Amino acid sequence: MLQQDTHNRLYVSVILPVRYGGEISYILPSFLEAGIGSWVRVDLAGKIYQGVVGSVLRGNEVPAISPDGKEIQYKPVLAVEELPKVLPSEIALWKSVAQYYMCSVGEVFKAAYPARQVKQEAVKPRKSVEHFLAEVAKWESQPATGPQATISSRSVRETDIVGGGRYVPQLSGVQRKAYEGIRGSFAQAPGKPVLLRGVTGSGKTEIYMTLAQECLSQGKNVLYMVPEIAISKQLQSRLKRVFGERLLTFHSKQTAAEKARIHRILQYNAAHPQEVQASAAVVLGTRSSLFLPYGNLGLIIVDEEHDSSYKQTEPAPRYHAKDTAIMLSQIHKAQILLGSATPSFESEYNCISGKFALVELNEKFHGAAVPQVEIVDTIYAMKTRQMVGSFSQKLLNEIRRTVDGGGQVLVFRNRRSYSPIVECQECGEIPKCPHCNVYLSYHKYNNTLRCHYCDYTARFTGVCRNCGTATFKYKGAGTEKLEEELSALLPDISIARYDADITRSKRTDEQTLKDFAQGKIQVLVGTQMISKGFDFEHLKLVAVVQADTILGIQDFRGDEKALQLLSQLMGRTGRRGEQGKLIIQTSQKDHPVLQKLKEHNTPYGSPLPPLTAQLLRERQEYLFAPFVRMVKIVVKHRDPKRLDELCGEIAEKLSGRKELQYKELTGPFAPVIDKVRGEFVKCFYVKFARNANLVQNKSLLQECIAGIKGNQAIVLDVDPL
Ligand code: ADP
Ligand code: ZN
Repeated sequence: MLQQDTHNRLYVSVILPVRYGGEISYILPSFLEAGIGSWVRVDLAGKIYQGVVGSVLRGNEVPAISPDGKEIQYKPVLAVEELPKVLPSEIALWKSVAQYYMCSVGEVFKAAYPARQVKQEAVKPRKSVEHFLAEVAKWESQPATGPQATISSRSVRETDIVGGGRYVPQLSGVQRKAYEGIRGSFAQAPGKPVLLRGVTGSGKTEIYMTLAQECLSQGKNVLYMVPEIAISKQLQSRLKRVFGERLLTFHSKQTAAEKARIHRILQYNAAHPQEVQASAAVVLGTRSSLFLPYGNLGLIIVDEEHDSSYKQTEPAPRYHAKDTAIMLSQIHKAQILLGSATPSFESEYNCISGKFALVELNEKFHGAAVPQVEIVDTIYAMKTRQMVGSFSQKLLNEIRRTVDGGGQVLVFRNRRSYSPIVECQECGEIPKCPHCNVYLSYHKYNNTLRCHYCDYTARFTGVCRNCGTATFKYKGAGTEKLEEELSALLPDISIARYDADITRSKRTDEQTLKDFAQGKIQVLVGTQMISKGFDFEHLKLVAVVQADTILGIQDFRGDEKALQLLSQLMGRTGRRGEQGKLIIQTSQKDHPVLQKLKEHNTPYGSPLPPLTAQLLRERQEYLFAPFVRMVKIVVKHRDPKRLDELCGEIAEKLSGRKELQYKELTGPFAPVIDKVRGEFVKCFYVKFARNANLVQNKSLLQECIAGIKGNQAIVLDVDPL
């Protein structure tokens, strides 16, 4: 009788936001009702968690005896929460991500539903959806104005875009051809990703908007992904003019209330299939928007698909948004379009191998010529006394000439701070971070020494701790010093800075961009943040100072990244009919990346950019992605001896496991920064053949790691960047 009872009893396996054993079974008491996707409250090791039901099981489907021979005591579900159920498609995505990125479903769940959000969910469920529907209806009843209707200008300008009225994109001839190419591929090979390789300013965004509009009119949702929201303000206002209230912006720094509103609208959309037309939306979001509750997803756009911000490095899931977007598109049978002026090598490779379809757009909409690239050899300039501080006379002249002609200038340097290093002239001491193996940067504006890895901050006294003298010298120049130097050299020109130090204050951040857009600032000095997403009409010159720090990256992706960055910077200039200019100051004038950039004056072209082809051949020869599939093993420990022991065990376990079929195992090696936040770091690369059985190999690899004592110190990073 008792036996019978346990067999009929219902159990649920609950996905919990924890690293180990992400899915745990509980008894479902008969007075509670729950199905797949229900939110439940359970006890795990004395702590109460909110989790999601992954599956419902009968008594005979759960083991009675644990692997070590003891009878398992299942705990009951404590409560079922009154929250909208998680969709099966969401759970399917969590499972795919967990399997591919070698983490627990619980870790993916945690990323999808950060705890705080759950509580908010229960409040005011209906009102925001009704408000959304009403606003959409109001917006849609407004008359649309195509670009033909705008004043005599031969194109739509930002000023029009910011102004009122709806905008309906009208594609040019070449854009239409590209658009038809994309649609053709969607129709012929549904679900096959399409890569749109189009130079900056060619109108990729107009094509995205056209496709998204069509998808909406079929009553399907659109996910429009961008690497970072902060840099997408201009894009947001462009999309707003096309989609109005249907545009929902989602990113991790939003308020909980706004996130909850978006959740509810999408949940409503998923729960009311007969009304989807009314509530279909375009979600503009960063990588976290992949985990929203989409009901009927028709199209995913991954803009700037090469951008490394798409990869989450910490914590797990260490996922790449582009590849995860492809998984999501498969779950929803949605189309997927990737776009970039400088696609990642992985995507180029996938086009060659036929996994992706390639569509090209090689003409700027405003017809500007390809920017001119000039390289300034700083070694020669130094010898001939043509350097003034960090700037060559040549560059200073060009800045002056550009500004006098009414143009604007961007000065790029990939290091913020005043000086990346300070050195005592007396004893040679260079202050280092007490927690990381890096030198401290000097920030003049608040007189601090800072670590850019752990944020350690100390006041800069100017007195050497080692010898007591006050003879520190600032070595090298970060953005803060460049700004200071330029202001002194060109006192009549308005100069500002844009980097993470500035943007910590949101007001200054927005004001700076606004002032630059309005021409109140003529020269903007900044970091990577200025390389993306900016479209300024009067930007005529981009200067890269100390390009050596971009070119010298010791990593298999170093040249790829350098090429992408410089090409992106190049794309920022000459956007309006006139030819722009890119000046690169470097001590490595013969670097292959620079040579190619200069020779061809463009890295693009069909079928494959020549330098990309060459770099790809090197990757093939030395067995790197995309020719092999890579898993990086990162080991961190406070005790360097224990770290070495762990590495020894890893090497032994992996080489000892015969079924594990890797092509190459390299390591342990110390990364360039081999100590961060008090922990020493070592890495391995496990490389699998592309045709290897990845699912099996990954689970074997996981098994090996699981068998190591102290494996909390070990992290697996699939497709490392
Ligand atoms: P990309 O996304 O490839 O960088 P954009 O879509 O931003 O290119 O286009 C560059 C500029 O040209 C934008 O200011 C855009 O408004 C304008 N533009 C491009 N295509 C069109 C079009 N078909 N009609 C009107 N303006 C266009
Ligand atoms: Zn540090």
